[in-house]
Amino acid sequence: MKKKILYFFSDTGGGHRSAATALMRAVDHLSREKYQQEMIDVFAACSGFLNIFAKLYSPVIKYSPKLWGQLYYWLDDEKKLEQLEAISRPFILQELKRLILEKKPAMIISVHPLVNHLTTTALQELDLKIPFVLVITDPVTLHRAWVTPKVDLAVVATKEAKAAAVEYGMPEKKIKVIGMPIDPKFFLGDKAKAKAKERGKLNPKLFTILLMGGGEGAGGMAEIIKEFQKTGFDGQLIVIAGRNKRLEQKLQKEKGKFSFPMKVYGFTNQVYELMAESDLIITKAGPGTIAEAMAMNLPIIVTSWLPGQEEGNVKFVLQENVGRVSQEPKKVVSIIKEIRESGEFEEMKQNIRRISRPQASLEIAREISRYL
Ligand code: UDP
Repeated sequence: MKKKILYFFSDTGGGHRSAATALMRAVDHLSREKYQQEMIDVFAACSGFLNIFAKLYSPVIKYSPKLWGQLYYWLDDEKKLEQLEAISRPFILQELKRLILEKKPAMIISVHPLVNHLTTTALQELDLKIPFVLVITDPVTLHRAWVTPKVDLAVVATKEAKAAAVEYGMPEKKIKVIGMPIDPKFFLGDKAKAKAKERGKLNPKLFTILLMGGGEGAGGMAEIIKEFQKTGFDGQLIVIAGRNKRLEQKLQKEKGKFSFPMKVYGFTNQVYELMAESDLIITKAGPGTIAEAMAMNLPIIVTSWLPGQEEGNVKFVLQENVGRVSQEPKKVVSIIKEIRESGEFEEMKQNIRRISRPQASLEIAREISRYL
């Protein structure tokens, strides 16, 4: 029987699911499908009650990112996190233990900050010595909740994330700096082919901008599109509205009215292909999207971010000069014009080429397979 790897995540946003999927594909690619792999949405599987709170992520980040920021900073405290875990335990621990016993994994990998302490407690109470690995999906600044010194290994994306993890009490020797786990196709896929194939659907000669707002379609995309219309944009747009159904329907209805070609998608599994079709991305500072855009050599205009959680990503974009930041739709459009005309656009692409790590998920897969 094949050894089993379980991936613990919570289906909030798109980033955690994407990270787990990327790792599964990378492990399959390297091991030629030697392992049985399964993703577990821990709250959905083990606690209907706690899952109600997990499901609040989507409306909160869409309608009140400020509130999310307040919660993020309020929980940046060891004592409060301990209390939160203690309160959660009665609602989830027995089920989590039952799940682990039933699935009999050879390894557990977590890509979510809020399930790790619970998992180490469950393993301890069951007296099981199953390797437990964290793959931290906040690339620069990470929340204290991630840090669980009892895990066997924590993979981070940057040395800044490593420093933060050490500061929060993670033993340095358990940390490996590798990169963000993005789908191996961003590394293995043939960008030129995807481009040629997909370009057929829009005008291949026009400058193509991709608009995205993470898995939930957050970040005021409609206003930015309006601004492109006002200024007589000479290119074309691809919009991924994600799970934001309202935005998707509105844009599908309106797209014929614009003076430029525009394609609109809801939640799609074609992000790689759509990025291959694009020249630049306008996005919320989601870590998954930024890592993928860099793998596809797209300069990044950041137009929104979650307070606390994604602020480090915004700084990263500016510091490395791989893009620009503005929350004002008018400015976003003028920045794009400016960087294209000044040649900065090409400079950004060079910077991206230098620092992007599109192969990270394969390297992470290699590292974790040592624990199997
Ligand atoms: N994504 C996707 N389809 C969509 C929208 C987003 O597959 O329609 C993926 C995207 O490629 C990325 C992830 O969802 O891998 C979003 O992660 P990110 O960390 O950028 O933001 P989050 O949604 O977690 O806030």
